[in-house]
Amino acid sequence: MKKFIILSFSLFLLSSFTFSQNQKEEILNISKSFVKEALKSDWGYNFLKRLSFLGPRLSGSENSLKSLFWAKKEIEKLGFSKVWLQPTLVDHWERGSIEEAEIIESSGKKINLHIASLGPSVSTNGNWISGNVMEVKGIDELKKVKDKIKGKIVFFNRPMEKELVDTFRAYGRAVRQRTMGASEAAKYGAIAVIVRSVTTKYDNNPHTGVVIYKKGIKKIPAVAIGLIDADILSNKLKKNPNLKLRLRLNCKTYPPAKSYNLIAEIKGSEKPNEVIVLGGHFDSWDLGDGSVDDGSGCIQSLEVLYLFKALKIKPKRTIRVIFFMNEEFGSKNSGAYTYGKYSEKSKEVHLAAIESDRGAAVPRGFTVKTDKKTFNKIKSWLPYLKPALIEWIKPGGSGADVSKIKGTIAQFGYVPDVQRYFDYHHSANDRFSAIHRREFELGSASMAILTYLISEYGF
Ligand SMILES: [Zn+2]
Repeated sequence: MKKFIILSFSLFLLSSFTFSQNQKEEILNISKSFVKEALKSDWGYNFLKRLSFLGPRLSGSENSLKSLFWAKKEIEKLGFSKVWLQPTLVDHWERGSIEEAEIIESSGKKINLHIASLGPSVSTNGNWISGNVMEVKGIDELKKVKDKIKGKIVFFNRPMEKELVDTFRAYGRAVRQRTMGASEAAKYGAIAVIVRSVTTKYDNNPHTGVVIYKKGIKKIPAVAIGLIDADILSNKLKKNPNLKLRLRLNCKTYPPAKSYNLIAEIKGSEKPNEVIVLGGHFDSWDLGDGSVDDGSGCIQSLEVLYLFKALKIKPKRTIRVIFFMNEEFGSKNSGAYTYGKYSEKSKEVHLAAIESDRGAAVPRGFTVKTDKKTFNKIKSWLPYLKPALIEWIKPGGSGADVSKIKGTIAQFGYVPDVQRYFDYHHSANDRFSAIHRREFELGSASMAILTYLISEYGF
């Protein structure tokens, strides 16, 4: 009897996930038409190109708002159901015009280093500060030499591990020296920190990123250094451990600034209260133009709406695209969407949320956080995602912004190939020229297919 119940239950599960032969063919045809339209039209690629001309979009900056208002105007021309701005407060820090570091050799000779302030680093008000340098491989090593840190500049020189295939894992293991290094070093009396750029690209462009100052610990200047110069500095320190270094910055932190999340949607024709969110973060670092991180994720999400419209598909459920603001400084208030009236006070259910924030290279898969039954259903959709080159669906996290949307049944992360992502990430290398047209478009198509399946069949 027990066996029978288990058997009939599994048959029930199986049947609820499977489509008829006609449905299968229809879905596959629609999948292919999403891919065709994306590749043929280049719609998103061209939109991103125009956005990139407006320059970087650092949270709180004038340019981030200029670009956002431009995007809103452009989106309004497309005839979706609704486009609106959701006010939020964001961090506001500006790099300033001075950021210099120099090695001072015992002969007095100075060697200029390629650096960039981390954000929101404190400034030296344009004045030089100098000290001896203590090189460490990471925070663990710092603790071992804590008695020798006072008055020095700490040089965190831990590279990303090249042997790891998953570059996000390598990044995750190396990035703590950038985020937490300044406060850890300040605890022991350091006057500044220089951090080896967390990147896979061997060049001299520094890769910036957020520095997190711990409460109650002195805030000290924090900068990233290009890999070539990091190696030069390390070699010189081996020859002369008493080497001096000086640096000056005039970056500035301002009070939180008024900004917005930009939201656009196509209302569902049958179940408008069931919402599928797609998004990326609109803010970027300021060294490149932010085409990869995360202009691409925003515009791929937007292209999903375009593709539905172009193919004249009326979604049964509401598809809502959000350009989140303030991810780079830690997503503090991009969560305004999550905590605002759109999720908690309304009768809406967030069925799914899909984030694209891992670059725009060739599609590989989707990670998803959901319950087991829903996961199995989503996994059974893999054949329909194959035309867009999606190879797998795995359990895993989604992204910094959509993971904050409470009560979502399934949260997805779009995962393209990640071998080159950290070549560009947070540096001057993050420019529109880093976007590959076909790979970008296949990403939009894969997100559109997944959105179609959820919109049409739900969970
Ligand atoms: Zn990002």
